[in-house]
This record gives sequence, structure tokens and C-alpha cells, in this order.
Amino acid sequence: MIALIAGPSKPPRFAQGLGLPYLGAVLEEAGFEPRIFDLYPPSPDTDDTAVLDERLAEVLAEARPEIVGMTIHTPEYAARVRLARLVRERLPEVLLVAGGHHPTAEPEDLIRNTDFDVCVSGEGEETLLEIARRVGAGSGRGAMEWLDGIAGVVYSRDGEVVHGLRRRNPDVDSLPQQAHHLLGLADYNPHPALGMRSVGVVTYRGCPKRCAFCLNPQGHRVRHRSVSLVVDELARVVQEFGINGFNVYDNLFGLTREHSLAICEEIVRRRLKVVWDCWTAGDLVDAELAERMRAAGCVRVGFGAESGDDEVLAKSHRGFSVAQHQAGLDALHAAGLKTQPFLMVGLPGESEESVRRTVEFAKRCGADEVELSLHRPYPGTALWQRPEEFGVRIIRGPNFEASLETQSLSREAMLATARNASDELKSGGVGGGDFLRWDVYDWE
Ligand code: SF4
Repeated sequence: MIALIAGPSKPPRFAQGLGLPYLGAVLEEAGFEPRIFDLYPPSPDTDDTAVLDERLAEVLAEARPEIVGMTIHTPEYAARVRLARLVRERLPEVLLVAGGHHPTAEPEDLIRNTDFDVCVSGEGEETLLEIARRVGAGSGRGAMEWLDGIAGVVYSRDGEVVHGLRRRNPDVDSLPQQAHHLLGLADYNPHPALGMRSVGVVTYRGCPKRCAFCLNPQGHRVRHRSVSLVVDELARVVQEFGINGFNVYDNLFGLTREHSLAICEEIVRRRLKVVWDCWTAGDLVDAELAERMRAAGCVRVGFGAESGDDEVLAKSHRGFSVAQHQAGLDALHAAGLKTQPFLMVGLPGESEESVRRTVEFAKRCGADEVELSLHRPYPGTALWQRPEEFGVRIIRGPNFEASLETQSLSREAMLATARNASDELKSGGVGGGDFLRWDVYDWE
């Protein structure tokens, strides 16, 4: 048995991300028995970590998996390392596999300093399947030479960290449909933006942009799913689970205009009654596409504006200007779609003046909600690897926490400027929105 562990993150839980249902599907298709454990069901009788740990330990002791896999994003680093220790104490022989953004960016630390045995880089379906096959054939913890030759793995052998060959990302149409049934969808809460239960889907993987603050673990090559397979998946979820809500987790909906248009047209042609949201940025969505999205059930669009200052956008290699963002937002608003721009303070070139321009953009852009956060640099990004190239200094904390200084704003000044911006937007009630997130430097 292969256990894939989601959570713990703060309840309530909405639709789970895409990674584990895709991994589960690939393993099931090959005849393995994966299970997904989400530590936080939607109506928990407790969120006491010790109690949840004990529950997980009991389940693992009963199921006795040969492999335990966890996805790690950098903010969860400490929690995942702690969980790995707990699993190791209960199941000393289990193979602990880490995948996702953080193991892709910083595998050596996980291999040298934590209980994880193997890191999987990038998209993990084919790599985890190969690991499962070899474990199924009798391999396990120990000398680990059996991992030699598997692409996409990082592990320790004879005290040395070994990096396997890079794996070419898969053709997305060759992957099976996500194993939504492994998530126990009935247990999740309605998604707040959709007002109903929902599942995540993608219409493509990859991103050609090179934003300095993004790890882009799916690579720059864009791989589209065929239109019929995407809409088949929506129809199957509606029919099998009675769920009509979808979160389209494309990096940028509308990136390939004809593909996005075709998805919308196919939903309308099949008369599928679905409700969905998605993400985009810049002027990728024009008036015609926005109308088709609305007709196909889209109700809300998260919008990666990031800044209201053109110089900051250019220095961050965002690939869009403020005018392009406004054009995209105008098209979405004209079609009657709600938008939620995401803005950050703390990007390259940030100054008091640029933050002022971001605040003014937030006020005038016409969005229903604006989310302002403090930028936290992440391992694996161009900013993290080459800060001097972007004119910034990165101050690192424990567990990969980090903050950023520019030539104009010290760390303290950045924090104060961001606080003032947040207060101003809150007191102005930007577009009637009340959803202003505040990421403080939380290691202090
Ligand atoms: S932030 Fe979005 S647009 Fe930029 S590289 Fe990452 S996925 Fe692509």
C-alpha cells in the first residue's frame, strides 16, 4: 500500500490540490493500492496536532504502507519534516518520499537533514510509479542503489547525495483522469468563491513566463490537454460525484486563446451545468473570451497583477504591464465576471513610490476584491538564486523563511510600507472587498 499524505493545513478544507489525485490515478492504473490521507476533514472535532498525529499513526500502523509520500511547499517545510519524523518512528522501514515545489528546489537539505529517503523533482507521476514498481519488486530502504537510473530522483548513496537524470515532463493527455474518489470529496466544504463543493482541474501544464519570484516547477514548455478530455473530466465529476464546481488551476487561463475558447465552447455545446473559477493576468482574456467564459459557467477570476508599478513588473520579469492588466480586468468586468487581483509588496525595485502606485491601482482597477500580501522569496526562484541580479538582498530565517530588501526599502521599511498600504486599502474598502490577506514575517 502507498500512502499519500495531504495536510495538515488550517481547516476548513476546500477542494484538494491536483498533485495527489494525479499521483493516485497513475498508481491505481498500474495496479497499486494508493490511499490519500487528509489530516483535516472539514468538520474536525479537534485541530489539536497531537490528536491528529495520533490518528495518523493509528491509520498507518493498521495500513502498514511500504511507501509514504508527501507534497511539500516551502511554508509547510517544518510541519512536513515533523510529520516525517513521526512516520519514521512508527514505521522504521517505510520509504519516505517527498515531492512538490520544495523538494524540487532544495532536495539536498531534505535528504541530508531530515527523515525523507527520496525527493522527486518536478512532475512526479512517472517517477513515483517507477519507485513503486521497484519497491513492489522487493527493493526498500538500505543501500538505495536500486534507485540508480530512475529519472527525477534525489537520494543518498554511500553518504553522497545522488541526483538522477532530469525527467522530461509527461504528455498530459497520456495521464489518466485524476483519482478524485481517493479524496473522499463528500467530506470537503463548499468553496467560498463558488458557494459549492468543487474539485481542481487543469487544461494545460507548464508556463512560458519567467517571473523572478516563481519556481515554475512544470517547466516552460506548455502542454495542453485535449479539449474533449478536459470536458470529459468535468462531465464525469458531475455525473459520478454530483459536484458541479471546478477550480481551474491553469497558471494563466487564456494563455493559448484558441484552446481556452475551445474549452468554453465545448462546455456550452454539451450543455454542462458547471460553475468555475480560474486564474489569469495581463490582457490574455479579451472581450470575446471573457463572454465565452461567462457563458460556460465561469463566475470569478483570480488575477495575478502583482504590482501597480511598471518598473517593478519589468524588474520582476512579470511579462505584463499595468496597462495590460487593466485591459484584461476591463474585459472581464464588462462580461460580468468577478475578479480578485493579487498584489504584492516587496518585489525587485520596490520603493515607497511604487507601493503608492500599487495602492492607486488597487483602488481604481474596478475589482470586487483585492488581495495584498507581503512577498516572501522562495527557494528555487531566480530571485533566491541570483538576488544581486535583481538589485535585492534576501534575509533568510530558519526553515527557509525569508524576507527581501531593495535599494530603497530596508526590511523594516518594507514591512511598515506594506502595513500602511494594507491599512489604507482596508479603510477604503477597495471595491467592496474584505479579503485582504496579510503575510507577516512569521518566524519572529
Ligand atoms: S508566476 Fe505564473 S506566469 Fe509567472 S512564471 Fe509562475 S506560473 Fe508563470
